[in-house]
Amino acid sequence: MSFVIRCVCGQLMTAQDDYVGLEVACVRCSTALRVPEKPADDQPAPATPSRPAARIPARQPLPEGVRPHRGGLAVTLGVLSILFAPLCFAIGAVLGIAAIAVSAEDLRGIQAGTVDPAGQSFASSGRIMGIIGLVISLAILVLTVGMLSMGELLLNQLNRFG
Ligand SMILES: [Zn+2]
Repeated sequence: MSFVIRCVCGQLMTAQDDYVGLEVACVRCSTALRVPEKPADDQPAPATPSRPAARIPARQPLPEGVRPHRGGLAVTLGVLSILFAPLCFAIGAVLGIAAIAVSAEDLRGIQAGTVDPAGQSFASSGRIMGIIGLVISLAILVLTVGMLSMGELLLNQLNRFG
């Protein structure tokens, strides 16, 4: 028989009877949870009780000296930099550089074994999107400056001959 336990973060997990009293890590936030006694009023098993992948402990807590990755932050910064680049190249560039910096730090940590390797693909995506956002920002900056100086040149010519 299995029953459902709920973490402080709201994550629901399926616990087997033989896990009662053991400590497990939440699959979402890694908080250590003690599996309580099965509720007296036999709770109905979750919708997919036979799915073994949902069982705990699905994920071991991170070992000592390894910090969680910041892949979500890196990807968010990368997406925002691409979104903001066409609106304001300064914001796009800053966000792009931030995304690249966060990703680079995570990737370095993953290589060195001090960051959760689950962040590898997030960091890679964050870095690529940060670079794209930065390139768009710089392209818009160059275009803007170019058009301004072209306009100025044209005005000068008009003034000189006009
Ligand atoms: Zn949790």
